[in-house]
Amino acid sequence: MGATAALGAARSALAQRMIQVAVKSKYFGTTQVLGEIDLTIERGETVAVIGPSGVGKSTLLRIVAGIDTSFDGKVSHPQSLAMVFQEPNLLPWRSALDNLLIAHPKLGTDRAAQMLDRVGLAEKADAFPGQLSLGQQRRLSLARAFACAPDLLIMDEPFVSLDPDLAGRMLDLTETLIAEHRPATLFVTHSRPEAERLANRVLTLQGTPAQLGPGRNE
Ligand code: ADP
Repeated sequence: MGATAALGAARSALAQRMIQVAVKSKYFGTTQVLGEIDLTIERGETVAVIGPSGVGKSTLLRIVAGIDTSFDGKVSHPQSLAMVFQEPNLLPWRSALDNLLIAHPKLGTDRAAQMLDRVGLAEKADAFPGQLSLGQQRRLSLARAFACAPDLLIMDEPFVSLDPDLAGRMLDLTETLIAEHRPATLFVTHSRPEAERLANRVLTLQGTPAQLGPGRNE
């Protein structure tokens, strides 16, 4: 009994640390979008997924995040997870500070203000999203994601449609926040340089149904 309990505790400690994805198939109607996909991400590891438009990258992210549960297979990940999307998805009628506090009710005003400071928005705490530039809105969305110190961070094309200078600064900031918090990170990008810069591992999603392969074709 003691040994069984210890094994159970060790298993759950492992499950806390790792993201394990074992998808057998994912269909939309009669169309199979994803084939067999096995992926493990360790704490502190960043994995980038690249691949052609429409191949199934967002679908895979939604499955890993637990938003899409209608697939054949199993995904296990820590409870604390945060997502960053292409669109900042902010509450327009709430201040920057409130956008953090509503997303994380236990955060507290001081910690929320610190997080705003961390992304260079200290002086914008009372501003509404409509009063912020797109770059500031994206930084606010990053602050919101990292404010809960997530064990798993999922990002879907977080730097798309930003000018190269702003995309570069956002990439710097994201890199710093990941290094500080060390979540397991899974992100989708169409930019190979971006993938290679941020990720420890770059994987390609390709084929019909789609499967994961190595990022480099060698
Ligand atoms: P990617 O992120 O790689 O561009 P998606 O995961 O968004 O691709 O989509 C993969 C495929 O699944 C596409 O052919 C898309 O049209 C289809 N698809 C995505 N979501 C749905 C849905 N809710 N219903 C039906 N088909 C969908």
